[in-house]
Amino acid sequence: MPDLPLFAFDNSFAREMQGFFVEWQGDKVPEPQVLRLNRGLAEQLGLDADALMGAGAVLAGAEVPAGAQPLAMAYAGHQFGGFSPQLGDGRALLLGEILDKQGKRFDLHLKGSGRTPFSRGGDGKAVLGPVLREYLFGEAMAALGIATTRALAAVTTGEQIMRDGPQQGAVLARIAASHLRVGTFQFFAARGELDRVRQLADYAIARHFPQVATSDAPYLRLFEAVVDAQAALVAKWALVGFVHGVMNTDNTSISGETIDYGPCAFIDAYDPAKVFSSIDRNGRYAYGNQPAVLHWNLSKLAETLIDLVNPADGDAAIAVLTQALHRFPVLYEQYWLAGMRAKLGLQGEVPEDLALAQDLLHAAEGQGVDFTGLFRDLAEVQRGDEVGVFAAPSVFGDWLLRYKARLVLGAAGADAMDAVNPVYILRNHLVEAALADAARGDMAAFDRLLAVVVRPFEVQAGAEAYAAPAPAEFGAHVTYCGT
Ligand code: AMP
Ligand code: MG
Repeated sequence: MPDLPLFAFDNSFAREMQGFFVEWQGDKVPEPQVLRLNRGLAEQLGLDADALMGAGAVLAGAEVPAGAQPLAMAYAGHQFGGFSPQLGDGRALLLGEILDKQGKRFDLHLKGSGRTPFSRGGDGKAVLGPVLREYLFGEAMAALGIATTRALAAVTTGEQIMRDGPQQGAVLARIAASHLRVGTFQFFAARGELDRVRQLADYAIARHFPQVATSDAPYLRLFEAVVDAQAALVAKWALVGFVHGVMNTDNTSISGETIDYGPCAFIDAYDPAKVFSSIDRNGRYAYGNQPAVLHWNLSKLAETLIDLVNPADGDAAIAVLTQALHRFPVLYEQYWLAGMRAKLGLQGEVPEDLALAQDLLHAAEGQGVDFTGLFRDLAEVQRGDEVGVFAAPSVFGDWLLRYKARLVLGAAGADAMDAVNPVYILRNHLVEAALADAARGDMAAFDRLLAVVVRPFEVQAGAEAYAAPAPAEFGAHVTYCGT
């Protein structure tokens, strides 16, 4: 019997979007081996996990499987505020698109597969540590219910790649709702290719927001839909303490998924100014700055759509796009407040809820209070136990009085709070330890950490250390962009 193909590709981007990419293939590599396969995801995608385990060369980009049309996508982007007109997939390939068992379409994308025409000075490669980091973060975020790309596999290539020192080469095979970015629109808009911007917008609508296709103002509705999806996303980041680290417009998706994990991290202590990226010297992408940055990134998307929204009257187009853009902070606050009500176990809505939620964080600021643990401790308060940071005397004393008065108006209960407040997030010190072991060939800490964080809301016996903040000697955590 002939082997079944690994993937049932249906490549809409390759088929419909000529001119938006370069057809390309990955490098041959000496010893491609699947180091970790996401079996749960493979199953959801209807893929043969055992066949994938033997398909290291395909998942590294070194061999083109039946039906694939590998390509490098063109995009531009504002990086730390400065515009780069040509970025593009400099070390990645879109292998093709697959449909999951529900018929939902995903890109299958390889990161680290070799140089492309978009590589500029780069080597086109990825190394083991960052590949495993992205694997962990994608799975942890997905388990927290946050829209994200996800790892299908981490593959080692048998190459030695120079970074700070020699490191093991690796490729991440990941899936995404798509790889359309704000920067994809910017690439064609900056070149004045209006027809291509329109074609891209039509493709984005068909793929992500089909409900706006028949509207009388589809491009304005597209923009509104992206604003809404991104507001929901960045609010969710804030609610779990996630810092993306490199919110350039090329790392801002049109679908509203978290994309391109680099120097990202979860905060331990609550601190709006918290930055982890070694290259973010001005705190542009600090924890508390993420909504403002997203708002700015969306303004860059709006600029690319002016001529589509009203070809005859630019001022009129700018007026309606600006109005839609100004909805961002409003929507963000709505999503954030809805999330905080759930975290605090507040049932019903009263106008004071916003101040109550904000004041908890104000009280926590500068106290070294663990952000994740704070909300689990608060559920214990509902159970009648003033434990952890709420044990008297505490900086939260006055706040607790207000909180208890509010609960009288409607309380969801401690169990409902525990269902939305994680016990386990990816603690930086645990990530670093797991990656250091992995570099020495020991995957036990990686596997254990992954197993814990994919069940973030359940207290797991024996996993106490995974819920604890970093020991003091871990110091200030910095993530280097040497990816
Ligand atoms: P990132 O910081 O991974 O989002 O990448 C930003 C841009 O730099 C994208 O165009 C990447 O394709 C490109 N890039 C990053 N690392 C490399 C590399 N090692 N080789 C070639 N291009 C790269
Ligand atoms: Mg990127």
